[in-house]
Amino acid sequence: MAESTSIVTVSQRGAARLRAGHPWVYRSDLVPPGETPASALVHVRDERGRKLGSALSSSASQIAIRLLTSGEIGEHALPELLRDRIAAAIEFRKQRVRDADSYRVLFSESDLLPGLIVDRYNDVLSIQVLTQAFDRADLRQVVLDSLAQHFPAAGIVERVDPRIRTLEQLPERTSQILFGERATTVCTLNGVRLHFDALAGQKTGAFLDQRENYAAAARYAHGQALDCFTYQGGFALHLARVCENVTGVDSSRPALETAEQNEQLNRQQHRCGEIEWMEANAFDLLKDYAAAGREYDAVVLDPPAFAKTKRAVPTALSGYKELNLRALKMLRPGGILVTCSCSFHVGESEFLEMLGSAAADAGRTLRILEKRGAAVDHPVLLNVPETAYLKCVICQVLL
Ligand code: SAH
Repeated sequence: MAESTSIVTVSQRGAARLRAGHPWVYRSDLVPPGETPASALVHVRDERGRKLGSALSSSASQIAIRLLTSGEIGEHALPELLRDRIAAAIEFRKQRVRDADSYRVLFSESDLLPGLIVDRYNDVLSIQVLTQAFDRADLRQVVLDSLAQHFPAAGIVERVDPRIRTLEQLPERTSQILFGERATTVCTLNGVRLHFDALAGQKTGAFLDQRENYAAAARYAHGQALDCFTYQGGFALHLARVCENVTGVDSSRPALETAEQNEQLNRQQHRCGEIEWMEANAFDLLKDYAAAGREYDAVVLDPPAFAKTKRAVPTALSGYKELNLRALKMLRPGGILVTCSCSFHVGESEFLEMLGSAAADAGRTLRILEKRGAAVDHPVLLNVPETAYLKCVICQVLL
């Protein structure tokens, strides 16, 4: 049967974006603006008919097409291309990931597989489909077969984000085990053990992107530590190996219950300072503690994304500033601040500017020890700024 591949024409702006190395074309940059086929492989051309490559299209998303390759390929070539990209992503992790049995195996655009995320938590793989195309039965099968081939002993769980399925106009689906019997396991990052339940928790991969930052924070922290927004204790448990005592704060009780179980897992294994888990609003707690004159030798701030849109950036920056200002007031001279932002819309320079202004207002002099991003299994594509969402700045209070 002859294959027919639709052709999608993009505007000058859309073409420029693709040529600049960004794989997305928005619906408003189609010519004429409007419809694209659902879940299809399409050929992309500029208005003069010049070839721009092959892309996966969505009939619903504002991101109408996501470029897969600058060559023109047909549907028959798609399975092999996916298998090759999956193999390359897995090989990259094999070479680069150290001290962990858990890491992001495939990261969407970062691995040239736009719309697909797979995380490995020890012997459980968690798969997340973000686009119509990767929800196609044939492509799902290619992905699952590849994963089973590379990780023969692992179970596979699908994590569904209902919001994304609504946006992509995909039929409802529930999170479930696709292969194997268990959705729970224990993973080990830098020697620290953490319970994982692929069918619970706030999002898949909540802590994987911070894996190397946990280890970095533990290289500097000492004395008394405060981990705000601790979730299931990622930073706190790493700090407990080097600090006298650690307070882990989060507003979510279920997260803290898992944090406490994680503490038990680790207490038997290696040195562990005192840990106190506190259910509290970190903003209120920092305000009260700063007012009460409490002091720490290390503070970690890893709040949820404050800026989900560009418009939210000013409010987000004032939220970050408030947190950082209060934390800085409580740090003893020589103390360490580990401050993070996972808001893509707040860039590194804006984040550093915010931190500088918080330091000035707090009357503290800060030395930057490290400017970090996400762990190596969350690769950054130079011309795709969305892939560089995580900032983690480690600094020391001199005065
Ligand atoms: N540091 C964690 C990830 C933090 S995710 C890790 O390494 O795994 C953000 C966390 O902030 C979530 O656990 C959420 O429950 C918590 N949170 C959100 N708003 C909060 C608030 N106002 N006060 C305290 N915790 C909050």
